[in-house]
Amino acid sequence: MNFIPYGKQNITQDDIDAVVETLKSDYLTTGPKVKEFEDALAKFSDVKYCVAVSNGTTALHLASLVLLNKGDKVLTTPNSFLATSNSILYVGANPIFVDITKDGNIDLDLCEEELKKDSTIKAIYAVAFSGNPLNQDRLKHLRETYKVAILEDCAHAIGATYDGIKAGSCANSDISIFSFHPVKHITTAEGGAITTNSKEIYEKLLILRAHGMVKTPDMKPWEYEMRELGYNYRITDIQCALGLSQLNKLESFIARRKEIAKTYDSAFKGTIVKPLYTFDSNSSYHLYVVLVDFTKLNVSKEELFIQLREKRIGIQLHYIPINKQPYYKDLGYGNEHTPVMDKYYEECFSLPMYPLLSDEEQQYVIKSLFEILNA
Ligand SMILES: *Cc1c(COP(=O)(O)O)cnc(C)c1O
Repeated sequence: MNFIPYGKQNITQDDIDAVVETLKSDYLTTGPKVKEFEDALAKFSDVKYCVAVSNGTTALHLASLVLLNKGDKVLTTPNSFLATSNSILYVGANPIFVDITKDGNIDLDLCEEELKKDSTIKAIYAVAFSGNPLNQDRLKHLRETYKVAILEDCAHAIGATYDGIKAGSCANSDISIFSFHPVKHITTAEGGAITTNSKEIYEKLLILRAHGMVKTPDMKPWEYEMRELGYNYRITDIQCALGLSQLNKLESFIARRKEIAKTYDSAFKGTIVKPLYTFDSNSSYHLYVVLVDFTKLNVSKEELFIQLREKRIGIQLHYIPINKQPYYKDLGYGNEHTPVMDKYYEECFSLPMYPLLSDEEQQYVIKSLFEILNA
């Protein structure tokens, strides 16, 4: 059997054909495919505007440039990839790490307590962890009551819904971001996107994506003006051709992920392996996270990782608490009161979850897992 990773892309001939066609066209970058991809993503996500960029991290950076100023305080989650809170640091703002709830998402009730205590808090950066959609009623309440900016990191959540509200629709947020890294739902190799319903934010993002440069019809043909310090965070037409082709298949990818989740759920029912949440048709299942109380077993989490790797299965851990990373500790973080996150981190790991995982491979993963845990 081939190595089974925790996640991987699904590239087929139609994707390859789409890329080759663009390679043969006049535009390799900043041509028609970028706008086509942006429009398709906006339509899919029920949102007005979309800006595609070079990756999810640059999407977060541009979002932070628009939403934050130096010194601003931002509530965020320790349970994410580094990039979420790094983007707050990029612009000289200060993350404040808030504990999570048992489903892995930021605790929005604790966020409200913080907002009550400190009216200078500028924003909330929330992550729809594993594809589990953020509670839109709570986001709406916080946004309206406390006038905070809200960013939804939907890197895991394209295709997820909450009460019919799509991840990335910005129904109750200022900005959402997506990532198209190969482990995510759809891929452009590297790539990302920012969505918003604000025309003002949209126009700023377009300028910041390309060096802060502005060109208007009244200027001389060769003229452009740099009005802000921007970046080159553009995505190529080649990548967007791939993204468009992948987007056509997103619904079927998610349907397969849900099937896999259901199979895991039933295999773990009544066992020592506890799914992070039981089947949720609103989740887009980027990750399938389980919790195991290793203090009651003869095997440690480290041994589990090593022994599964020997069986050619690559489980993963999402995530090491960001506030406990050495760089963050040097900045004075790491001692926040986050008991739910701390316990979660002890117990969690992510099982293989991707559309190409076969039934046979999944059964092999389940069997191998129990063999090791029951030893
Ligand atoms: C993957 C990911 C990112 C960063 O995206 P890249 O495209 O890898 O830069 C940001 N946030 C979360 C939650 C992610 O999973």
